[in-house]
Amino acid sequence: MSDPNAANHPRDREGAAATVRVLHGTSYAFEHRGERWVMCAAGPEIESITGYPPADFIDHARRSYGSIVHPEDYSGMVSLFQDAIERRAPYAIEYRVIHADGSTRWVQGHGRGVCDAGGNVTRIDGCFFDVTERRLSEERLAHLALHDPLTDLPNRALFQEHLTVAIANAHRSGSGGAVLFIDLDDFKLVNDSFGHAVGDELLVLVAQRLRDSCRAGDVVARQGGDEFLVLVQGTSAAADPEAAAQTVATNLRVALAKPYALASTDLYITPSIGASLFPSDGDSAETLLKHADIAMYAAKDAGRDGYRLYQPPKRDSSVELAIASQLRQAERRDELELYYQPIVDLSQSCIVGAEALLRWNHPEAGLLLPGEFLPAAERTGLIRPMTAWVLERACIEARRWCDHDLDLYASINLPPAYWQPAAIRRVIATIESFGLSADRVMIELTEEAAMTDIADLEPMLAEIHAQGLRLAIDDFGTGHSSLGRLSRLRPSMIKIDRSFVKDLPGDRDAGVLVETMITMASKLGIHCLAEGIETEAQLKFLRDLGCPLGQGYLYSRPLPTARFNALITGEERRAA
Ligand code: C2E
Ligand code: MG
Ligand code: MG
Repeated sequence: MSDPNAANHPRDREGAAATVRVLHGTSYAFEHRGERWVMCAAGPEIESITGYPPADFIDHARRSYGSIVHPEDYSGMVSLFQDAIERRAPYAIEYRVIHADGSTRWVQGHGRGVCDAGGNVTRIDGCFFDVTERRLSEERLAHLALHDPLTDLPNRALFQEHLTVAIANAHRSGSGGAVLFIDLDDFKLVNDSFGHAVGDELLVLVAQRLRDSCRAGDVVARQGGDEFLVLVQGTSAAADPEAAAQTVATNLRVALAKPYALASTDLYITPSIGASLFPSDGDSAETLLKHADIAMYAAKDAGRDGYRLYQPPKRDSSVELAIASQLRQAERRDELELYYQPIVDLSQSCIVGAEALLRWNHPEAGLLLPGEFLPAAERTGLIRPMTAWVLERACIEARRWCDHDLDLYASINLPPAYWQPAAIRRVIATIESFGLSADRVMIELTEEAAMTDIADLEPMLAEIHAQGLRLAIDDFGTGHSSLGRLSRLRPSMIKIDRSFVKDLPGDRDAGVLVETMITMASKLGIHCLAEGIETEAQLKFLRDLGCPLGQGYLYSRPLPTARFNALITGEERRAA
């Protein structure tokens, strides 16, 4: 494999920048003499393409034409010629020639064999053109699509390709490797204190140090923002991926810890690094990246400036069973509670709805968040009765808001287990049983769940749209859905995941992504909501981009029902 991190040749850059010129082309003819094909005619343009005058090639006076064909392309060209001659068919081919000045040129050749009276091909007539500029532009475009423009490192897509190949190779040879996920600690501070230009310079220097600290066969990529990826492969990784990952992580930390002479001062930055190993931590690029990301967060949680190896979650089935059996009684014991978080119209600063978020008042453990008990509920099937309970409670509240002339809707998270036509019909029947119109309730489906086979979703979508029920795609941006899928789902709303909002406004990549999502939603006539707004700066940024809706601690944390109702009926509503 060629060095994946090598910056492209300066000639490529010239090629991309050059404007299209008239193609140089020339005609030629070859004759079959003895066992050889010899050039017997060529136009004068051959000199501008190859640097040699026609007389040099004719009758092999000084050199054969084949001698200037690039060695890597020679045998392919010869076999194509022979095949075309045997089949009596015209041929078209692109290959490289070495110009007299030593440079490489791309040429496009066309031709066909001419037969004698006995039907034997004795002559080839053709022409060729210099297509170097076009080839270089194509190569440059292909390079741009797979590289980060700032650092010229491979981007995430190219990294995934390399990783997929590495996993397959490791599988074949019974060896292994590692993925390192690197996040710079407090990079945002650099941007905020010294500006984006310095932030960018720092990223370029970091990229250089990462590249210099890795071996030639390893792949260093920019994942986005201040996040980088390293694929560790080769002999030591194959023998002991864990030790190889540890060594590379140590080298990277040492290299990045040295000062950066920027903005007339010495800047320091530390990384949090997470690693996943293959094949033990996953057999797909996506899983390995996810696990390396989780390990990186573990390094952050442990105080930053550190390295952590991915640890698979411990599935303690006895604890899970205990949670499940307690959960079963939670509803009867009145331990479940719905909190509401305001959904705010960002331009008017008024509350237009509320997301219902489940809480469990555990008798011993205290208030539990959904992340602590929903996985057990999902695995044991308890999620279905719990969702019915959430829906009913949210409808009771929505009814109350209606009765108080409050123009608000309740938004409910539907788990994947509820994503069946019969369950959707039950949702609609429940809403109707409270005398509510369908637009008083919105259902939220995570983008990941919305990735179910579209054919399976179709009956539900038909039901949802027929009844006028509104659908929001939750945690948008994390689930890899496509534009095509979005238009099939026809949601009323997308909820931009908090992971994008949290880095605003400092992180330029996050800004571009959020702006793209807002613009796309607006063009498709879909409402757009930003989740997790925590700061005035994030709010201003989102407002400036025209994001219509938001949710987050800046406005209000999720509140118990009574407190939420006090908020909306009190003075605060308009001042939110
Ligand atoms: P979600 O639907 O994306 O809900 C938003 C989550 O972000 C909530 O966490 C909310 O408390 C939190 N959040 C809101 N604003 C901010 C902010 O400014 N900063 C930060 N750091 N967090 C913020 P919560 O309540 O822990 O819920 C987590 C997830 O659990 C929800 O994500 C949803 O997917 C799921 N969930 C919650 N309630 C239910 C439910 O009744 N049924 C189902 N199936 N899932 C639920
Ligand atoms: Mg939600
Ligand atoms: Mg969400």
